[in-house]
Amino acid sequence: MNLHLFNTLSGQMEELVPMDGQTLRMYACGPTVYDYGHIGNFRTFLQVDVLRRFLKLTGMKLRHVMNITDVDDKIIRNAAAAGIAIGEYTPRYVDAFFEDLDALRVERPEAIARATENIDRMVELIQKLAAVGAAYQTDDGSWYFRLSAFPAYGKLSKKDLSGMEDGARVDVDEYEKDSARDFALWKAARPGETAWDTMIGRGRPGWHIECSAMSMAYLGDSFDLHAGGEDLMFPHHENEIAQSETVTHKPLARHWMHVRFLLVDGRKMAKSEGNFYTLRDLLLKGYKASAIRLALISVPYRHQLNFTFDGLIEATNAIDRLRTFYARLTQGTFAAGENPAMQSAAKKAQTEFMAALANDLNTAEARAPIFDLVRAANAAMDQGKLFTGDRDEILPVLKDFDAVFDVIEDRDAEPTRHAIAWAQQAGRTADVAPELLARQSLTDDAIEKLVTERTVAKKQRNFARADQIRNELAEKGVILEDSKDGVRWKRK
Ligand code: AMP
Ligand code: ZN
Repeated sequence: MNLHLFNTLSGQMEELVPMDGQTLRMYACGPTVYDYGHIGNFRTFLQVDVLRRFLKLTGMKLRHVMNITDVDDKIIRNAAAAGIAIGEYTPRYVDAFFEDLDALRVERPEAIARATENIDRMVELIQKLAAVGAAYQTDDGSWYFRLSAFPAYGKLSKKDLSGMEDGARVDVDEYEKDSARDFALWKAARPGETAWDTMIGRGRPGWHIECSAMSMAYLGDSFDLHAGGEDLMFPHHENEIAQSETVTHKPLARHWMHVRFLLVDGRKMAKSEGNFYTLRDLLLKGYKASAIRLALISVPYRHQLNFTFDGLIEATNAIDRLRTFYARLTQGTFAAGENPAMQSAAKKAQTEFMAALANDLNTAEARAPIFDLVRAANAAMDQGKLFTGDRDEILPVLKDFDAVFDVIEDRDAEPTRHAIAWAQQAGRTADVAPELLARQSLTDDAIEKLVTERTVAKKQRNFARADQIRNELAEKGVILEDSKDGVRWKRK
């Protein structure tokens, strides 16, 4: 089943198929590593993850590239304030970014491109632009893109740029600008700033040239899909198009996907607004990584999502229902046979799930039939009307659901433990929810008691409770090992 995805460039739904007939080549703008990411940033990465996972589920091969912006105004400013080089400043935030992606179970792209490792390619591209008159140097040694050299400017964001001032320039990396100006390709070195000595002078790249140079290097002149948050559409992506297409005369990307912003109280979640939560903030409040993932992906990418704690609680409960159901289904014993109603319910859920995702990644509509199936199958189990043949039909549906949503298997203990250890190290123990700390300090006696309770529950075939205890202990960092001589436990 092929994905139909809204294409910002054409303004229409279009089927997403690889232009080489084999591998879908895509580029998604990555983070600027000047600080910890907030969950608004992660919503964008999570929605790209949904795209990735669905494409893989349909059997498509991917080459997905993400950049890391490890040099920009903010990084330079913060590193200078800390009195260190940018190469010393950014690694902590690069590591934190990947830790957060792992916690949220965002799959890694096939390739990661770091700006500071691709300076030569950017310089080369600027030289090519200069050779055709689309780049010029100012007295201070900086280089700018000449907007008048690219008449198609504005085709992605459909902005009316008729009032555009010829030769007006902008040199900041910040991207919430509403006017089109000649933009910086290369910024001449200022005293004390990180800079590279290159053929076009001493300095550092602008933000936009980075993505043009790296997408070209990793994916070729023209590729299938380019993605990012909605704020990147203008001017960042518009500038990428101008830079790349001026040199290649080919469409930079055929398809453009933009993820709507995560809002808080109706306003964009942003560092500059001071209304943001990092993943760590939420983990330390006691919310699980899986619940944060589910809450951020359950609203389709083209819809605005308003962040609320109620939304996280809803997601927590939904995941509990799924996990309890999965445990019941995999650990229960069922009579041989089939219930025709369950058979068709499973098939219907599978069809509707795939169809909803194939329709512009409608995660909300994809989720609904799965929960309907859970409800129906729970009722059938209660009445003893679910058989082995039904279980075998339902399990693959859950597997496909989890290939995209990835919340059923419980891997929540580690991110939480990690966040606590991080807070303790960072002197932020006061930010850790008291119940999390209490859980951390579980005594051996309390563990023994829970282990015994679990054994009893299992004997009584109350697998849901047994599973709950196992998960609860796992969250507290206690691992159980069932063996023929009983249960052993250990702390991680
Ligand atoms: P940055 O690190 O600021 O370059 O942002 C990384 C990614 O997060 C970009 O694709 C942004 O468009 C995206 N982004 C930033 N704020 C939000 C938000 N509130 N909701 C969704 N995506 C966002
Ligand atoms: Zn970019």
